[in-house]
Amino acid sequence: MIARRLLAPAPGWVRQADIVVVGSGVAGVTAALSAHDALPEKNILLVTKSLLDDGSTRWAQGGIAAALGPGDTPEQHLADTLTAGAGICDVDAVRALVTDGPGAVRRLIALGARFDADAGGVLELTREGGHLRRRIAHAGGDATGAEISRALLRALAEAGAGADEGVGIDVIEHAMSLDLLLTSDSRVAGITLHVIGEGQQDGVGAVHAPAVVLATGGFGHVYSATTNPPVSTGDGVALAMRAGAEVADLEFVQFHPTVLWLGAGATGRQPLISEAVRGEGAFLVDASGRRFMTGRHPLADLAPRDVVAKAIMSAMAQTGTDHVYLDATHLGSAVWDHRFPTIRASCLAHGIDPVRELIPVVPAAHYASGGVKTDLRGRTKVGGLYACGEAACTGVHGANRLASNSLLEGLVFAERIAAHLADGLPSASPPGPDERPPGLLDPATAEQIQQLMTERAGVLRSGPGLTAAADALRKIADLQSAKPSLAAWEATNLHLLASALAATAAIRTETRGSHWREDYPDSSPQWVGHLVATLAPVVDQDQAADDGLSIRFAQPLSDRRGRSDG
Ligand SMILES: Cc1cc2nc3c(=O)[nH]c(=O)nc-3n(C[C@H](O)[C@H](O)[C@H](O)COP(=O)(O)OP(=O)(O)OC[C@H]3O[C@@H](n4cnc5c(N)ncnc54)[C@H](O)[C@@H]3O)c2cc1C
Repeated sequence: MIARRLLAPAPGWVRQADIVVVGSGVAGVTAALSAHDALPEKNILLVTKSLLDDGSTRWAQGGIAAALGPGDTPEQHLADTLTAGAGICDVDAVRALVTDGPGAVRRLIALGARFDADAGGVLELTREGGHLRRRIAHAGGDATGAEISRALLRALAEAGAGADEGVGIDVIEHAMSLDLLLTSDSRVAGITLHVIGEGQQDGVGAVHAPAVVLATGGFGHVYSATTNPPVSTGDGVALAMRAGAEVADLEFVQFHPTVLWLGAGATGRQPLISEAVRGEGAFLVDASGRRFMTGRHPLADLAPRDVVAKAIMSAMAQTGTDHVYLDATHLGSAVWDHRFPTIRASCLAHGIDPVRELIPVVPAAHYASGGVKTDLRGRTKVGGLYACGEAACTGVHGANRLASNSLLEGLVFAERIAAHLADGLPSASPPGPDERPPGLLDPATAEQIQQLMTERAGVLRSGPGLTAAADALRKIADLQSAKPSLAAWEATNLHLLASALAATAAIRTETRGSHWREDYPDSSPQWVGHLVATLAPVVDQDQAADDGLSIRFAQPLSDRRGRSDG
């Protein structure tokens, strides 16, 4: 059975804040800085599970999309985003993204982010798959995320980030959020943390606050191989579910087709070989040297990511191998060193020189289009709880994220949350009585969950495979660990996300965007909409039969131009 909420150990310390921001990627730091700008007299506490720059943000390569170039318009960016989203983007959310986007990128530049530009300071905008215009701003060639992270963290330091309580932004690293504290009428009262540090706030403690912003990133580690860093275990999405929030679109996981193959059975974070390398002319070949994308799609090697990932899976099955190759030798060292210095260094670190050798590649989990369901101000169903960045489902991505829209989404919706909070913070109330059933899983279950999800709910899915995954996940739910630990919390969070993902993937009997069903190869008009999941309150132990999950179908939000809550 999936517990709605878990038993956190009694807090050893308690502190107060006006706003807690969880996560220090593009979304979390932007939320904290923007809230501080709007509410300088308030105390904002930013907590992060590891070091400040340990999220996905600093690994982003390609760039950030916004209609900044001559002749480009937000309308065209909107049209490309809707096409990629395969019919189920929420148009209002996309409109907010593309309209606010150029200003948000300009504010990032004003903050100190240095994007690649010509001698006159004009941004070098590039194109990526699905964009009909040059609108991708990049930095350091292929190190955009690192530059954005650097600029944001420097601004955070300048905003007076320190360890002291009081007015301004306080930061605590190595602080893993465990669960939300709720008032007796189910609004946010704060959050429990496990802090590894020294001093008074070590071990498990509680922060009482009327507003919590979740910016905990994605959940690539539901799968064995992922481009995501180790912190991406979906904690924020899981703890939001346990508090009663809705999650949407979990079944739409984008698998990046070209991730460096690190050997049979390699698990954890794998280095990404950006699509831009294929954009420069690299092509895929199978183990026998055959170019398998030619003739398969009009765009051949530059077909949409999900099409390429599926073709790679077929090529591997046909040749009985566990990887294919990317041939980029003809680009030469000049192109490699100017455009892709980080990727070349990453290949060299694994003994492959892409100027002379084929790069072994394999698909891996890359981006979660779904997450905690929010409105256009980042509000969730739980009063006082907000979400932004990859942890959120704003409705922007639909069934498939358009390349380089995710950094932009983190910026834009974090700013929108801050603007909303500036209109008035929710009122503070103490946490209500806690009647949570215990239920942390054995940390060893994480690997079982990852293998299961990779085999049964990965790039290719089928009804029997998803049913088998759900059955196995139910059995794993019984392997409870007596001892709370950070690894036990992560395993428990992965299990909850895997269960909800497998359930929604089984229900969606069609192929759409990044969700591929071998038994339902076509899209169906019946499924033009979102699957929204919640954990029903556990009233008694007999509810175990349905895993405690409740799933409903919701139509995509239509375009309602000019509405006032934009
Ligand atoms: C290799 C790679 C390349 C990419 N390239 C691009 C690109 O070119 N363009 C683009 O737009 N997108 C790209 N993406 C996607 C993009 O980087 C992410 O979607 C985006 O950075 C997510 O930002 P975020 O702030 O939501 O989360 P993250 O940057 O992942 O930050 C999450 C934060 O939450 C913290 N956290 C997690 N759990 C907890 C917890 N329990 N308690 C406390 N803190 C917690 C983490 O430590 C981290 O600080 C790429 C992603 C990867 C992995």
